[in-house]
Amino acid sequence: MAEISGAQLVIDSLKREGVDTVYVLPGDPVGDIVNGCAKAGLRVISMRHEQALGMAAQAHSYMTRSVGVCIAASGVGQTNTLTAIANAYSNCWPLLVIGGSAELRRRNMGDFQELPQVEYTAPLSKWAYAAESIQRIPTLINIAMKQAITGRPGPAYLDLPAEMISGTVDESEVPIPAPAPEPPRPLAEPGKVRKALEVLSEAKHPLLIVGKGAAWSWAEEELLQFVDRTQIPFLTSPMGMGMLPPDHPSNVSAARTQALQGADAILLVGARLNWIFHFGQPPRFAPDYKLIQVDIEPSEIGTNVPATVGLAGDAKMVMAQLVEALDEVPVSYGESPWLTGLTEKAAQNGATIEPMLNSDVSPIGYYRILKEIRDVLPKDAIVVADGASTMDISRQVIPNWFPRQRLDAGVAGCVGVGVPFSIAAKVVHPDKPVVCLQGDWAFGFNGMDIETAVRFKLPIVWVVFQNANIDKWVRTYVDGEEDPNDFKPSMRFDKMMEAFGGHGEYVDKPEEIRPALERAFSSGKASLVNVIMDPGASRRPQQFAWLAREGRMGY
Ligand code: ADP
Repeated sequence: MAEISGAQLVIDSLKREGVDTVYVLPGDPVGDIVNGCAKAGLRVISMRHEQALGMAAQAHSYMTRSVGVCIAASGVGQTNTLTAIANAYSNCWPLLVIGGSAELRRRNMGDFQELPQVEYTAPLSKWAYAAESIQRIPTLINIAMKQAITGRPGPAYLDLPAEMISGTVDESEVPIPAPAPEPPRPLAEPGKVRKALEVLSEAKHPLLIVGKGAAWSWAEEELLQFVDRTQIPFLTSPMGMGMLPPDHPSNVSAARTQALQGADAILLVGARLNWIFHFGQPPRFAPDYKLIQVDIEPSEIGTNVPATVGLAGDAKMVMAQLVEALDEVPVSYGESPWLTGLTEKAAQNGATIEPMLNSDVSPIGYYRILKEIRDVLPKDAIVVADGASTMDISRQVIPNWFPRQRLDAGVAGCVGVGVPFSIAAKVVHPDKPVVCLQGDWAFGFNGMDIETAVRFKLPIVWVVFQNANIDKWVRTYVDGEEDPNDFKPSMRFDKMMEAFGGHGEYVDKPEEIRPALERAFSSGKASLVNVIMDPGASRRPQQFAWLAREGRMGY
């Protein structure tokens, strides 16, 4: 029978597993895989930094409920993916990284780009393994796919020593596994479903919190049914935005502080009580609320706060169970004083930012820029946000109308995701507008990959919020003191985009923002709107310094 190379087995296996796109940075020894992928009809997005391709691949996973794949070269090429792998792990997102590695026959001799890649990667991954034979490549890719997507999703790493790629075997000796099935969707224990509703039926101040685990599960329909039947007030995590309609009467996201502090029973679905939710503990939460937790990872139940009822299962399935059980154990809050109070507070909070949204002051502040973006964005736009203040304030100003259409720095607080996440968003959703909101510092991390957007004709619009410094709002400098973290003011990132062949806009007056955005969106090209803003701009004063260092350390 015919001989087949390891590279070809990788390509055939990816196709068999249903992969249609790979994010790559070619180099030794993965060149044959990358070239072969293109010949085999896979979409090959070639990027400029391995960190970026790992990030793009995981955003691809999250938006498509599949395993996004990236391919990196050996040694430091592969270790450049480690931050992306750590981010996928923190966000519970699937990812398959395929890394070439040095030749086995020269190991421990100081070979070119020889590093212990599996050992470095294993602590950050659900699964990390080096192929020990060419024949096993299809089986290992199949195992990696299943590991990445099953249960709580996460990253898998397959290491391919050079000989495993360039070598050949007799095709008849290669076992071919059945493609990885759809990940199982476990149900919760029925008795506990009933118990959960009993607890909720006794609550005076109930609250539903929806996270991106529910988004990964595509639980939006069941969540909406539950909210409509019970009228439970809800809020979402940053990437849970869009799981329920933002204009729903039970949406109390804009009264987050009051809702968390006042709730006496919380239904937590696909979200963790980590730093994003203040560990679920006082002073941000009541000391004695009842917690009903829905999570696919059984060991997550009870983390940081004991769960009154733990529903270990898939969010979509468990929400359907809860909806069905409402016939037996009715829960209906009506227009309770609790909901009315929160809605009023939300309206008040909205009113406090109104003057900032409409401010004509120059230099420009965050709110005015974001308001202009909000007003030009159609409802189906995908919003990527990256950088501390830009990301944080954008949640208050720009709504998300549909699930999985907000991507940001996530649980790891991973600055730099903006450019690669936007690229994946446009690859996955070519028909939807994609806007990437980035601070100038955040933009710098993977900024060169805007060239990738130009090269692949991905008309993404970047808005760079240029305050010309790093993290000013959490540091206090004496007036006049030289700040080592200040950048050169008014840098021309728009010219950088133009140099690559995209469309650039430079804006330093509030009234210029809207026309610049409109030109960028209608240019049909990758565009960058470079907004020069007030270096001292910050968010409106908060009761709790949510993301400020004092706040984070002080819990
Ligand atoms: P967020 O940042 O949106 O608050 P987290 O990343 O903290 O969300 O938490 C997501 C949670 O969702 C994780 O604990 C993860 O185990 C869980 N999860 C992942 N997939 C599912 C699923 N299909 N059903 C239920 N929970 C899920």
